[in-house]
Amino acid sequence: VRRVAVALLHHPVLGRGGEVLTTTLTNLDLHDMARSVRTYGLQALYAVHPYPSQRLLAERIRRHWVEGAGGKRIPDRAVALAVLEIVPDLTQACARLGGEQVELWTTAARATASPVTRYADARRALEGDGPPVMLCFGTGWGLAPALIERADVRLEPIHAARDSAYNHLSVRAACAITLDRLFG
Ligand code: SAM
Repeated sequence: VRRVAVALLHHPVLGRGGEVLTTTLTNLDLHDMARSVRTYGLQALYAVHPYPSQRLLAERIRRHWVEGAGGKRIPDRAVALAVLEIVPDLTQACARLGGEQVELWTTAARATASPVTRYADARRALEGDGPPVMLCFGTGWGLAPALIERADVRLEPIHAARDSAYNHLSVRAACAITLDRLFG
């Protein structure tokens, strides 16, 4: 089976005005996405942040739950948070997962000009052999377009079968739904 991991990017992502910026960490994202990554048996959750102070914070959160008092009190959280790895950029996340041949797969609520891959096709691609896959999720107003454009696979946006005219999920919900569609 292919090695698959999730990357949670705080840069390069969009801001409200469409500018590329860096967002701050959200504690809840780390907890919820680690639980999903652990549940679906993926390799790791990479929290990607360019600022050393933010990486330090993520490391402290991880340590508290995996080795510290938190993990002793709530052991099932320790098991989940153990999948968390903290890296400064996507290149380092890919290096840890499997070197240069890692495929980048992106997610987005909005359709892009470039072609997208249906979940059924993506699921089939993951069943066979192939290079490792990094599933990328954005914060802020979503992954920067340049990253989406250079991705090997752009997953189709998640939306309801009925027309609800809205599909802006939290990154935590989008991650859980994506993993269930691909591995559930
Ligand atoms: N502040 C928000 C929060 O509370 O999570 C951040 C939203 S962030 C733009 C949401 C990320 O989740 C996107 O970058 C994308 O990775 C994913 N996402 C959200 N809605 C989605 C959808 N309908 N289909 C696919 N991915 C989606």
